[in-house]
Amino acid sequence: MSKKILVLPGDGIGPEITAEAVKILNACREAGLDAELEEGLVGGAGFDAEGHPLPESTLEKAKAADAILLGAVGGPKWDTLEDLSKRPEKGLLGLRKNLNLFGNLRPALLYPQLAEASTLKPEVVSGLDIMIVRELTGGIYFGQPRGIEERDGERVGFNTYVYSESEIERIGRVAFEMAQKRGKKLCSVDKANVLEVTILWREVMNRLAPEYPDVELSHMYVDNAAMQLVRAPKQFDVVVTGNMFGDILSDAAAMLTGSIGMLPSASLNEKQQGMYEPCHGSAPDIAGQGLANPLATILSVAMMLRYSLGEPALADRIERAVGKVLDQGLRTADIAYPGTRQVSTSEMGDAVLAAFAES
Ligand code: NAD
Repeated sequence: MSKKILVLPGDGIGPEITAEAVKILNACREAGLDAELEEGLVGGAGFDAEGHPLPESTLEKAKAADAILLGAVGGPKWDTLEDLSKRPEKGLLGLRKNLNLFGNLRPALLYPQLAEASTLKPEVVSGLDIMIVRELTGGIYFGQPRGIEERDGERVGFNTYVYSESEIERIGRVAFEMAQKRGKKLCSVDKANVLEVTILWREVMNRLAPEYPDVELSHMYVDNAAMQLVRAPKQFDVVVTGNMFGDILSDAAAMLTGSIGMLPSASLNEKQQGMYEPCHGSAPDIAGQGLANPLATILSVAMMLRYSLGEPALADRIERAVGKVLDQGLRTADIAYPGTRQVSTSEMGDAVLAAFAES
């Protein structure tokens, strides 16, 4: 049966970068991918058109889709909206929550051609290939009770860091299975020396380990993990952690690779339905100028083919095409340096398309 892909361009550079990714998706359809594409509104675009960052019609389409490709949401135009539930970011959180997209996969892969673009020494980062598996729908970002209230004559802010065994187990399984397909090393990051919730996290990870005897499980405190990521990042293969630690560590890992414009992500539920998006935001500072790097979004399409559409060969072809374009010396402004040729968003998309067609 034909698969359904929902494309949500969103705001800022979102429409520019998704347009390039759609070119590649259409090339995949010509190469045999049986899929239909649909478009929808989300974020500020949803608010402007229908008064809500996640219009009902978009949510319906999202639930019916096998996979969603999202550009980015947000921008200064909506930053002053007083009703926080109408802010663009709520569209994104609503999609994650409604589709139960608990498993966030964020690869940090350094293309050797871009080793010079990293702020770390080339020998520290060249060959870097880490997969961070972050729990996305639980933990302190969602725990109750939460709030700011008056206690003993002063205001007190509080949040709750909570995980159930079943929540830990399901993200643990995603991570162990990912490690089985990669370098067979899994590092679980916690703060078990201080936080009970992560003592439980560690216990559950240890309990799962015998079911995956081919995977070597290790544990690391989050403060050490932050340090190790910049000291010797190549020691990591797959990292699994909770929502907040994953948020912070995956951004640090992203910068190891030079530009956030190169990094894709996937957010999956138990049915392998997924939302695929670049790690970056809507970059309002460069929107509409043809300066945005579309490669993170194009690489998100590769992840979609691999994890939700069962087309790993097409995913490989896209990743090879991106490598070939970088070999040709083509660079958008964010990854350009002397000796390379700077190209626009659409020129980069067209170059990947040409390399894909030749492969
Ligand atoms: P950002 O990621 O949009 O931009 C940070 C910097 O990186 C900017 O200088 C930008 O020009 C650059 N950049 C980002 N993507 C790029 C690309 N593809 N090519 C070249 N350069 C790129 O983060 P920000 O400035 O903190 O946020 C801008 C808006 O995006 C805000 O409204 C924020 O809420 C929103 N945001 C959305 C998402 C999302 O949709 N998933 C994520 C983060 C931020």
